[in-house]
Amino acid sequence: MKKHIHIIGAGIIGLTSAWYLMEEGHDVIIIDKGDLSDGTSHGNAGMIVPSHFVPMAAPGVISQGIKWMFDSSSPFYIKPRINIDLISWLWRFYRSCNASHVARCMPILYEFNEWSKQLYKSFSEDEKFSFCFEEKGLLMLYKTQHQEQEEREMAQKANELDIPAEVYTADALKSLEPDIDLEVLGGVYFKGDAHLYPNKFISQLQSQLLSRGAKFITNTEVIDMDCAGDKVKKLHLSNNTSISVDQIVLAGGSWTGLLLKKLGIKIHIQDGKGYSFTIKNANVKPNIPTILTESKVAVTPMGDDLRIGGTLELGGLSPTINKKRLSGIIKSLPKYYPQLNIKPSDVEIVWLGYRPCSADGMPYIGRSNSLTNMVVATGHGMMGMSMGPATGKLVSELIDHKETSIDVSLFNIERR
Ligand SMILES: Cc1cc2nc3c(=O)[nH]c(=O)nc-3n(C[C@H](O)[C@H](O)[C@H](O)COP(=O)(O)OP(=O)(O)OC[C@H]3O[C@@H](n4cnc5c(N)ncnc54)[C@H](O)[C@@H]3O)c2cc1C
Repeated sequence: MKKHIHIIGAGIIGLTSAWYLMEEGHDVIIIDKGDLSDGTSHGNAGMIVPSHFVPMAAPGVISQGIKWMFDSSSPFYIKPRINIDLISWLWRFYRSCNASHVARCMPILYEFNEWSKQLYKSFSEDEKFSFCFEEKGLLMLYKTQHQEQEEREMAQKANELDIPAEVYTADALKSLEPDIDLEVLGGVYFKGDAHLYPNKFISQLQSQLLSRGAKFITNTEVIDMDCAGDKVKKLHLSNNTSISVDQIVLAGGSWTGLLLKKLGIKIHIQDGKGYSFTIKNANVKPNIPTILTESKVAVTPMGDDLRIGGTLELGGLSPTINKKRLSGIIKSLPKYYPQLNIKPSDVEIVWLGYRPCSADGMPYIGRSNSLTNMVVATGHGMMGMSMGPATGKLVSELIDHKETSIDVSLFNIERR
């Protein structure tokens, strides 16, 4: 039966949910507080990463994070503040940094990302889409022996899960990257990963949704919701109007927890701010998307352009750009690629976005115990672009009360 669904949030999660819900014959109205031109789902590094099967909350992350806190140009930072949500998030993060949590999450993260990659592939085969989707894999480059050890261990774990991962010496890397000089000790190559140009995908998805009859309400924030019994009945909007609703999908990225709080539902999300900049028509660029592992910088060739992104700052949705951290990203480039010697003054436009980071590194996808007509989908952290289409598909299965294509128990929104 045709349903009328209001989707809050027009990022990758809201838009892919809209897409698959429309494929099932439903009507969708997408509401966003922005103008749809540039959000977290636009300027990210565009990596589609079945190779990222370890959640952010993993052993060793805390000690590394504490070291980085004392370096003003490091890739990680928490703005010190007394904030109950941040403190309870950190406590849950700490609790999740253990081997058994990682072991539970690994197979599902891999399966979910791999499924999503296949769904992107189907979009790329549709002639209405053209978003530089390429399956060239992912390179993890390292310069130090300490990092080499970590990356080799990760490659071994991957192989145990039947995920192809191969260790390359500096010399052997020339066969993968013949057109750019590398100054590294070696690298691990995950040949199963893919990448795309997120700005292109998101804007094409918006256009296709519009042409299929989806409605968009933009520059309008959902500021509150009315419930009666086990249902959300009304959305109150920032333009002083309200809308009656039948079914809703809440895909508000890093802001989702704020709305849920008004309904008395608690999820544990912090915004992991990151920056990127894009070199248009780059003369020098790697062939394969790469992570510079010591610096945690992502380098992605996107068509003729080259995007560079990094840092994760838990700063409470602050829109400021930390110049030292940005310069940390820029200065890391020539350490790995001597030809990519960019000056901070060459970077004119800096983009920022907020990764919706859950405390245990797993997304929240599902219904709460109290409300039967709302599906929540958020908390994808560093992998929201990658997991987008699979999440959209799951949302449509949940709205239709179908059996889900994968086990969603680790995505439960009521988990503590
Ligand atoms: C530097 C950087 C690099 C990244 N690289 C990658 C990568 O290579 N691969 C990958 O998989 N992921 C990557 N990510 C992460 C990825 O971008 C995010 O996980 C993903 O975009 C989150 O999508 P979303 O739809 O959940 O949220 P968003 O894209 O933030 O969308 C949420 C939308 O909801 C709207 N909204 C929120 N609250 C309301 C409200 N109350 N009323 C109306 N509208 C509302 C917001 O305006 C927003 O448009 C990166 C992120 C950063 C910052």
